[in-house]
Order: sequence, then structure tokens, then C-alpha cells
Amino acid sequence: MTDSDAIAEAARCLECGCQANTQCDLRDYATEYQVDYREINTEERKMFPVDKSSEFIVFDANRCISCGSCVHACQTESVHGILNFSESSHRPSFPDGATMGDSNCVQCGACVQVCPTGALTDKRDKSHSRVEMLTPVKTICTYCGVGCRVELYVDAANNKIRYVKGDKTSPVNQGMLCVKGRFGFDFIHSEERLTTPLIRKSGELVPASWDETVSYVADKLNKIKSMYGSDSLAGFSSAKTTNEDNYAFQKLFRREIGTNNIDHCARLCHSSTVTGLEASFGSGAMTNDIPSIAHSDVIFIIGSDTSAAHPIIASHIKQAVTKARA
Ligand code: SF4
Ligand code: SF4
Ligand code: SF4
Repeated sequence: MTDSDAIAEAARCLECGCQANTQCDLRDYATEYQVDYREINTEERKMFPVDKSSEFIVFDANRCISCGSCVHACQTESVHGILNFSESSHRPSFPDGATMGDSNCVQCGACVQVCPTGALTDKRDKSHSRVEMLTPVKTICTYCGVGCRVELYVDAANNKIRYVKGDKTSPVNQGMLCVKGRFGFDFIHSEERLTTPLIRKSGELVPASWDETVSYVADKLNKIKSMYGSDSLAGFSSAKTTNEDNYAFQKLFRREIGTNNIDHCARLCHSSTVTGLEASFGSGAMTNDIPSIAHSDVIFIIGSDTSAAHPIIASHIKQAVTKARA
């Protein structure tokens, strides 16, 4: 192998598995400094054990260039306070020398999003950085009411979401996501998803066509309505469906079935706040925008475990507290 071959080899990929990687600072520096991998012995290249102890993230300190981006994301942006630089290894480390899985890491993946090499990667898919092969699609996380904007990186040829990034331009999440928004979309491709309606026949759930299912449900509803009246029926909808679906569902119950027995999970779990806000402000809605948290003198939280329920709001609050203390 000639010197130029060796440099080309180093430039191609440093065995991360993310072939055709176009966004790796480790690879770029190796090229810039004309690193000949034959001059680095295998022991030196693999000084640190690869940490695969956590659910969603692999940490390979051997690929770390000590840029500090992950520590900044964990300490200053998402304010989880987990990652610090180790004085001995000059690599990010977890408190008391713990592995990622044994630490209090919440698997938000902010560190993965900012890591410019293959040191911190999504455990399930190493295609992060293969941006040239994927189509970014912006949408809103469907898990909670915070409304973080996500960028789905879609493998159009295989109709698959390969990974998710937080959108930095969103004033709501400023690039941050919680574990659900970042790693919680693999259900879309689950083999266990229902792809056809099921009707229980003789105690067994049997696949059925949509035509058969709609006729079956309409028949059952009509029979109950004619025997016991419209108000014997009730519909319960979900915040996980779209506004349009919820609109159509309440029309079905109010206009076609003729009852106001229609409800929604968001009204139930938020009924106390809706009642209080409506009485105080005239509307059961959020009274301030999320960026205002950073400019608040007082943040009064009642009846909320914000870090667990709405982690990105919690990060904004923790940022504000850190700023006030500085
Ligand atoms: S996943 Fe989140 S909490 Fe865990 S180390 Fe990375 S930034 Fe910190
Ligand atoms: S962001 Fe990646 S390369 Fe930079 S210090 Fe963290 S692990 Fe190392
Ligand atoms: S806080 Fe988490 S679950 Fe809620 S919208 Fe943001 S990423 Fe999704």
C-alpha cells in the first residue's frame, strides 16, 4: 500500500460502520493531518472499553476528539448535569466512573446529536451523519404537549425513519429532545403493528376488511341507539390523533348519533388546570410562551413533576435557574 493509499484508507472511514460518512471530524482530521493508521498500534487505537450499557446510546471513547460538545449539551443546554470531562483520560465521563447505563443519564441523546465523530452514536442505527442518503422531514413530536419540533431523517427508498434530531430553529426545544422524541419512533416500523381491523368472532380476533368493519360497527351502534336512545352511547377520543380526526369524531357523535357524550383524554387529565385557568384567565390554555421562561423572575410550579412529564420545559427552567445563579 502506498502512502497515498494509506491516507485514502484513513480518510474513507475509521471502522465506525457508518460508511460513506460525510460528517465526521475524526475522519476529517485524520485526512488533514495525513494520519497513517499503520503508525498507530492497535492497543493505542482501542485504549478505552466501548460502553454499550445504556438502552439507546453507544459511547466509544476511542473515537472521541475531546471537543467538549457533548459535555456542553448535557451540562448547559439540556442541564442534565451527567457528563463531565475526566481529568485523567481527557474524555467525557460519567459520575464516579459509572457506565452510561449505571449513571443517572436520561438518554435524551443531546450528546449524540452534537458529537462530530462516531464516539456517541445511536445504538440501533449507525447511519447518523449519512445525510446525503436521507431526506429530512420536519414535524412535531407526538408524545406530549410541549410540541418539540423534530427532524426525521427518512430513508425514502426503504420508507423508514432512520433517526431523529431536534430542530435547532424551534423556539420550543432549540434542538433539544427527550428520550421519547429522540428514540421513541421505532414503533412506526414495528412488525407487531395492526395493519388490518380485527373483529372478535367466536372468541377469536379475526382480520377483517374495512368495509366489513365499518358496517359491523355501524350496525352495532344503530341497534344500541334504537333500543336505548342516543345518550346510551358515548365516544372517547385521544390526544394522539390529529385535530382533524378529533373534529370528525365529535361530529359523528353529535350530529349522526345525536349525543353530547363525547370526551377526550386531554380534558380529563387536565380538567383541574383547565377549570382553574378558565376561571382566572378566561381560557384553559397556556398563558405564556416557552421562551419567556428564560426571562422570568419567579417560576412557580404546582402539581407538576416537570422533569418527568415535560422534560424540555424542565430544561428551560433549569437553564433559567443556572443563569440567575451565575
Ligand atoms: S443522553 Fe442526555 S443525559 Fe445522557 S449523557 Fe447524553 S446529554 Fe447527558
Ligand atoms: S462530542 Fe463526541 S468527540 Fe466531542 S468530546 Fe463528546 S464524545 Fe468526544
Ligand atoms: S418534551 Fe419529549 S415528548 Fe414532549 S414534545 Fe418534546 S420531545 Fe416530545
